[in-house]
Amino acid sequence: MAMADTFVLFGATGDLAKRMLFPSLYFLHAEGFLDDDVRILAAARSPRSNEEFRAEVASWCCERADGAKQDVVDAFVARIHYLAIDVTTPEGYDELAAKIRENGKGKEVVFYLSTSPSIFGAVCQGLKSHGLSEPPHRIVVEKPIGYDLESNIRINDTVAEAFSEERTFRIDHYLGKETVQNLIALRFGNRIFEPLWNSQTVESVQISIAETLGAEGRGGYYDEYGAMRDMMQNHLLQLLCLVAMEPPSSLNAEAIRNEKVKVLRSLGPITAENVEARTVRGQYKEGFDPDGGKAASYRDDVENPKSETETYVAVAADVRNWRWAGVPFYLETGKRMAERKTHVVIAFKPVPHSIFGDDASPNELHIVLQPEERITLQIMNKRPGISAEGMPLQELPLNLSLSEATNGQRRRIAYEQLILDALTNNPSLFVQRDEQEAAWKWIDAIAKAWAERGMEPKPYRSGSNGPSAKHVLTERNGHSWYE
Ligand code: NAP
Repeated sequence: MAMADTFVLFGATGDLAKRMLFPSLYFLHAEGFLDDDVRILAAARSPRSNEEFRAEVASWCCERADGAKQDVVDAFVARIHYLAIDVTTPEGYDELAAKIRENGKGKEVVFYLSTSPSIFGAVCQGLKSHGLSEPPHRIVVEKPIGYDLESNIRINDTVAEAFSEERTFRIDHYLGKETVQNLIALRFGNRIFEPLWNSQTVESVQISIAETLGAEGRGGYYDEYGAMRDMMQNHLLQLLCLVAMEPPSSLNAEAIRNEKVKVLRSLGPITAENVEARTVRGQYKEGFDPDGGKAASYRDDVENPKSETETYVAVAADVRNWRWAGVPFYLETGKRMAERKTHVVIAFKPVPHSIFGDDASPNELHIVLQPEERITLQIMNKRPGISAEGMPLQELPLNLSLSEATNGQRRRIAYEQLILDALTNNPSLFVQRDEQEAAWKWIDAIAKAWAERGMEPKPYRSGSNGPSAKHVLTERNGHSWYE
């Protein structure tokens, strides 16, 4: 597979670069996925010598990679060249362009923007003015791409002035997770699920992303965005797409992404008329963290005593097409919840007539992404032993534990696959512009309806499962949340 020869990382001193991007690049290097000639040009404003920066990166990688061998780390950091440039000034690009083209290199470059979107425009213009945005060069952009549809279009327009759509890779790191890709494998690599994957057999779908952390340290950004824009617009809707989409004709990026966008465009609109019945907003108050320690309220965490930002949101969505008509999709995400857990539950309908009385519970397919990656099918089984009263049943899981399937290998960072795909020019696991626009349109309508109805976030205790009002969403249909 042909690979770009240069990876330029803007925002190289930032939190994401330190915790995720450099460790991912390190693992790609250590496991032989990077061609020998791949260079990493690391750009940020902070003054550092090359040696200082390489030493910093080495320490970030060793922190993440247990038992990393010194010679492997040394060989990895030797690929890195640090450039202290301000990307909002033209001068920086002269230095960057010269470095990229040094010794006849820079024939194929991936630019990764791990910076605030407010400087995407300056970077794209800077690259374009130096002839660095021509094919086959491509760009990877981090979320958030906008605060709403309007700003999303504005940012995408700015990027499009320099990079065409097929050379714009929009990251949603959930798509790099093993279990998320496994959802594609499970659905389209097995015949048995397809006949069941519709409103005839599925009762409801639940997708939950629960975090135990609060908004501490992300104050300004989070207080502006809230759970709906920070999590629902991207990760939850991407998961919903993978569950609900029609089988694509191939694994080709265009084929997958076109099916996803159809799902987003089929989402039933949520307006001022139905927003109170379909959504719940919440904000965490004081309570406890998972270790039993005291946890502050959201308003204290972000030092905004009047904040009305939601840290929890639940939506009962519906996908209006032949496959899914009438099946509720319960989506939920929250901070400071009782446990850190991301899961998708496909709840099947009960058997049409039970010969086992109340013992026959409906089947459930649990796709767990966090804390561990696991897929479980709950099926009914005869309770072992003899009985004087009929045939008692019990529910047992058919369990696919990914840690067992991977022979106890380390769990990969989601960015590893995505960076490798960007380097090898495979956009299948990236988000296209149409998808983002369709998602923002739906999210904007909800935000507008909240404002029209004056829906304030309901309080919930830190360390709980969210506001109790969430149960109304499911109970109305005779369902309950899987917690
Ligand atoms: P951060 O810690 O604030 O880092 C920002 C980086 O941009 C720093 O390296 C900073 O370096 C650089 N930078 C800022 N202005 C610059 C300029 N004018 N010229 C050159 N470099 C400049 O942010 P982050 O948390 O790493 O996040 C980066 C992006 O990823 C954001 O869009 C964020 O929303 C997104 N994201 C982050 C996470 C996460 O877990 N952190 C998760 C998902 C998405 P200097 O200060 O040295 O210039």
